[in-house]
Amino acid sequence: MVFRRTGDDERAQLREEDEDGLNVVSGDDEEGGEEESADLFEAGQLCDVCQGEDGRVGLDPTCRGVYEDAGDPVLFGYNCLEQGLKDAWSKVEGVAAVVEPFGDYSAHYYYRLDEMPAYQFVREDVEALSWLMLTVGDNCARCGAQSHVAWLTPDFVDQRLPENRPVFRNLDGEIEHLCPACAAAALAGAYRTLGLPLITAELPRAAMGVLMPTGD
Ligand SMILES: [Zn+2]
Ligand SMILES: [Zn+2]
Repeated sequence: MVFRRTGDDERAQLREEDEDGLNVVSGDDEEGGEEESADLFEAGQLCDVCQGEDGRVGLDPTCRGVYEDAGDPVLFGYNCLEQGLKDAWSKVEGVAAVVEPFGDYSAHYYYRLDEMPAYQFVREDVEALSWLMLTVGDNCARCGAQSHVAWLTPDFVDQRLPENRPVFRNLDGEIEHLCPACAAAALAGAYRTLGLPLITAELPRAAMGVLMPTGD
């Protein structure tokens, strides 16, 4: 399961129309248009920080290339993970919901609120998250610093992560608010507990959005 941009479906539809002869464009725009992007990280590579352990969590601060000057992607092993995430998260300015990673979803991607509809999230979900984020900013539940994150355990989502159907639930329940450092520590713990060979993680950016497990 991946939250895909609607544009991908539209392109597929256009192609079908081509085949029906309704919309014949130049013949060769199918090949070579979209390049297969090479994977940023590969299982089995060493930790970029210490070169002394297997890299297990790849952090892409550019969020799939959207924020190109956000810094270089870094692959962390478990020993270097918590400090690495804390350093990266210390620069996070925006407010975000973080869905704790679970299962074997191999990515933890950031979706900005204003882009969520394009990724097949339904309106009820976007509205519920918008309201949720307005509540963030009080004291961190674990250390008392200012919170930036609403921490959502897997109980707050439909774990099959359906597209075009509501994913979030129980958002009126008790939700922990965390500061960036405590969110980073909680994420490091969650990634370690999952123990996946490789997970690709992103960072919230200045706007509001949600960090969400996804993948195949
Ligand atoms: Zn390391
Ligand atoms: Zn804290």
